[in-house]
Amino acid sequence: MSWKTCTSCRNDILFDATYWVCSVSTCNRKRLGLFFCSVACWDAHMPGARHREAWAVEKRAQSEAEWSKEQEDATPPARSRVVASDASRPVRRTVVATDGARTGNDEDLPREVLVVVSKLKNYIKAKGDMKTSETVIPVLSQELRRICDRAIRIAGQNERKTVLDRDVRDALKE
Ligand SMILES: [Zn+2]
Ligand SMILES: [Zn+2]
Repeated sequence: MSWKTCTSCRNDILFDATYWVCSVSTCNRKRLGLFFCSVACWDAHMPGARHREAWAVEKRAQSEAEWSKEQEDATPPARSRVVASDASRPVRRTVVATDGARTGNDEDLPREVLVVVSKLKNYIKAKGDMKTSETVIPVLSQELRRICDRAIRIAGQNERKTVLDRDVRDALKE
């Protein structure tokens, strides 16, 4: 019985053991919950995470007694949150836009995320010292698609095969 699993190497992090977490708050959200058994394993998440500045924070795992007390104290909804934060889950989630207002038969077009999430979050953090909810990403992506759709139409009306900056500017005026 171990406390957590190392996000990088999948080795067990035992009760009372020393482990590391990332200094960046987005790596410590409940649902994501990255845990590392060593600084090297923390290092391993850096290329994917693309942090501007980060360091490993040393922690000590709960004792088995503390852990089981916490499980007992947890009310049912809290318990399911604990399950969802299991570090063995995949770290990267694909955010799918759920825009019910969409019309037309372009169902097979890619609906993927169009913004660089880490850069967007960095910007909002730097500008407003605020965090960014994950739910912002599909909304912004959908808005970008809307602008692109209009710019494509304008470029087409001008019999061009290239969308230009002025098409996007005109699209924004519509
Ligand atoms: Zn590890
Ligand atoms: Zn991190």
